[in-house]
Amino acid sequence: MQTYPDVKLFINGEWRDALAGETIEVTDPATDEVIGKIAHARKADLDLALEAADKGFKIWRDTAPFDRSKLMRKAADLLRERADKIAWLMTREQGKPLAQSKMEIMGAADTIDWFAEEARRTYGQIIPARFSGVNQMTIKLPVGPVAAFTPWNFPINQIVRKLSAAVATGCSIIVKAPEETPASPAELIRAFADAGIPAGVIGLVYGIPAEVSEYLIPHPVIRKISFTGSTPIGKHLAALAGKHMKRATMELGGHAPVMIFNDADLDKAIEVTAMSKFRNAGQVCVAPTRFLIQDGIADKFLEGFVKAAEAIKVGNGLEADTVMGPLANERRIPAMEALIQDAVSAGAELKTGGKRIGNKGNFFEPTVLANVPTSAKIMNDEPFGPVAIINRFSTYEDAITEANRLPFGLASYAFTGSVKTAHALGREVEAGMLTINHNGLALPEVPFGGVKDSGYGTEGGSEAVAAYLETKYVSQMN
Ligand code: NAD
Repeated sequence: MQTYPDVKLFINGEWRDALAGETIEVTDPATDEVIGKIAHARKADLDLALEAADKGFKIWRDTAPFDRSKLMRKAADLLRERADKIAWLMTREQGKPLAQSKMEIMGAADTIDWFAEEARRTYGQIIPARFSGVNQMTIKLPVGPVAAFTPWNFPINQIVRKLSAAVATGCSIIVKAPEETPASPAELIRAFADAGIPAGVIGLVYGIPAEVSEYLIPHPVIRKISFTGSTPIGKHLAALAGKHMKRATMELGGHAPVMIFNDADLDKAIEVTAMSKFRNAGQVCVAPTRFLIQDGIADKFLEGFVKAAEAIKVGNGLEADTVMGPLANERRIPAMEALIQDAVSAGAELKTGGKRIGNKGNFFEPTVLANVPTSAKIMNDEPFGPVAIINRFSTYEDAITEANRLPFGLASYAFTGSVKTAHALGREVEAGMLTINHNGLALPEVPFGGVKDSGYGTEGGSEAVAAYLETKYVSQMN
């Protein structure tokens, strides 16, 4: 039988306790049981991690991209081999069903492979010179040691994009992984350690998030920041990065509009969006949130979606028939209850769900609110939970106006049978990502990021590699 481990820091190629011996408890969100503890890093531990990252960078930047790539592919294979065991850890600490945990791990292995290949082709340029005997060129160099801060909703996936881009390009990286879900990310790092990554190239720490970020971001060793989390924290960290002239990638909150037009395939729209909405109990930055349904199909869509929500089996993610697990932490329950109560008092109709399930574990009913006025808090704040808002619209212009109303601009969804509508949406929706007639988001080879208050930079596709590289110009006269 598998047991949940105590999790250590990974500094300078060693798994170690915190210098002061402090720890933080880890709780199973399905049972409320304390299942383990993690080493709690303070400044003295961070100093060791920084020193190691500085040293690791100097080794790794001079390692051939070909060799970096080979090592990464080995780590990806180790992750695949260990996927079942790691999935169990992830489900215990995060709550999501085992199948979703396993999918996340297999997806992470693909991400490592993709970046391993992409970064072997970080070509510079030869720029024609004005004078004979002069060679003008650009070369691509790794930006330097990176500090990454990642949340608990996808414990491995949120790290692997940052880690793969950094390691593939020759950077070193210190990961401040989520304290709520620490063991599965530690296994991601272990796959790299076991594949032979040199000491200092990857560091792993846990602690008090604000304490760690306030120390690492201004530190002269760190050259780049990457953060995934809420918009208010992202703005705070981006300001700190700006103050210290550090490059930053910010993957922040969303409030995805889902526009479903009269000419859409209704059954497909219900099936795809209900699955996407309640995946990971709605704790997904790209989760469909504001459903905007055109008048002609609005009643039918609502009826079908409520049925789909009511059919979802909620339970412990370790049980084979569970479709939706608990919320990842206790504080999400009052957050959900407050948003729902506020919406109902503003005039929304609660069509299904709305309550906590039982009094042990953070289980919450898949919830559908209809006809929610824009004044309700949930129409403006990211719900980050299993609540769908289903409203209606009459014209294309109404849909676009509502879709673009909020300062968020991460993911967006549409369903339509019209090529003309699809084409117009591609240009007019203010979002970093738009997926039409299916859910095609979050593959390693495509961009992943937002606009407006949802942040800047992208964590997929070739742009994600460029974010970890400097372009240096060299002019040489023979
Ligand atoms: P929170 O704002 O306290 O934390 C969000 C994440 O940011 C956590 O991982 C936390 O460890 C980290 N964080 C917080 N303060 C930090 C700091 N000063 N420096 C570095 N990291 C810091 O909220 P929460 O209760 O954990 O989650 C609630 C909200 O966070 C959600 O409503 C959602 O908007 C957002 N969130 C977004 C994502 C995402 O994928 N974009 C993931 C998790 C949470």
